[in-house]
Amino acid sequence: RLDRFSFFVGGNWKANGNKESVKKLVQELNDAKLEEDVDVVVAPPYIYLDSVLNTLTKRIEVSAQNSWVGKGGAFTGEISAEQLKDLGVEWVILGHSERRHVIGEKNEFIGKKAAYALSNGLKVMACVGELLEEREAGKTTEVVFEQLKAYADEVPSWKDVVIAYEPVWAIGTGKVASPQQAQEVHAEIRKWISDNVSAEASSQTRIIYGGSVNAANSSELAKQEDIDGFLVGGASLKGPDFAAICNSVT
Ligand code: PGA
Repeated sequence: RLDRFSFFVGGNWKANGNKESVKKLVQELNDAKLEEDVDVVVAPPYIYLDSVLNTLTKRIEVSAQNSWVGKGGAFTGEISAEQLKDLGVEWVILGHSERRHVIGEKNEFIGKKAAYALSNGLKVMACVGELLEEREAGKTTEVVFEQLKAYADEVPSWKDVVIAYEPVWAIGTGKVASPQQAQEVHAEIRKWISDNVSAEASSQTRIIYGGSVNAANSSELAKQEDIDGFLVGGASLKGPDFAAICNSVT
C-alpha cells in the first residue's frame, strides 16, 4: 500500500442497538488503544448520533448512515444534510447495498445525494458493489463502474469522498472476499477513477473494503496494495474487535 494517506476504518452500526448497548460500545471505544495514523469513523443510527457525538472522547469521527437527497422540508421520516451538519456529524454513508437492494435506491438518486451532502460540508463514504449473480455472470466491473459513474456525474470534487467497495454477497454473510478478489476490484476502481475523473483523484481517494471483515481476516486484507481501509458492519458492534480491525494496518 502506498503511503498516500491514513488508513480509514468505518463502523456501520446499521439499525442495531439500544440506549444501553450504545453507551457500552462508546465506553469500549473510549477505552480502546487506537493507532495514531488511522482515521476512524463510526455510524450509529440517527437517533443515537447526538449522544454518541457527546460521549465519544477519542479522536473518532461520527457518520450518519443516510441523508436526504436535497434541502430539508416536507419529507416525512427523512433527515437532511443540513440537519446532520448542524448536529456536528462529519460523514455520511451513501449507496449502501441495503439501501440499494432492500429499499430500492437507484444509482442516479444516490449520486445526487452524494453531491448534496458534499455541498453541505459532509464527507461521503460512497458505497459500490456487485450482487452474487452479477459476479457469476462476469459483470462485476461493469456494475461497479456504472455505480462509480453515477457519483462522478454529480460530485464536483472527490476530495471528501471515500469509496467503499462492498460485494453484496460478502455483506453480513461471513463470506469475506479473498484478499486477491478484493485487491483486483480495488485496482480496477482506482484505474477507473484515473481514466474518468483524474490522476490526482485516483491517487488520493481512499478505497476501502467492506463485507464480513473481522479481527481475524483484516490484517491479510490490509496488506493489499489498493485496500486503504474497511467499512465494518457486524464486527463494529464489539469495541475490542473493531479496535483490532482499526489497528490491523501494518
Ligand atoms: P458486515 O457489513 O461487516 O456485517 O458484512 C458491512 C457493511 O454492510 O458495511
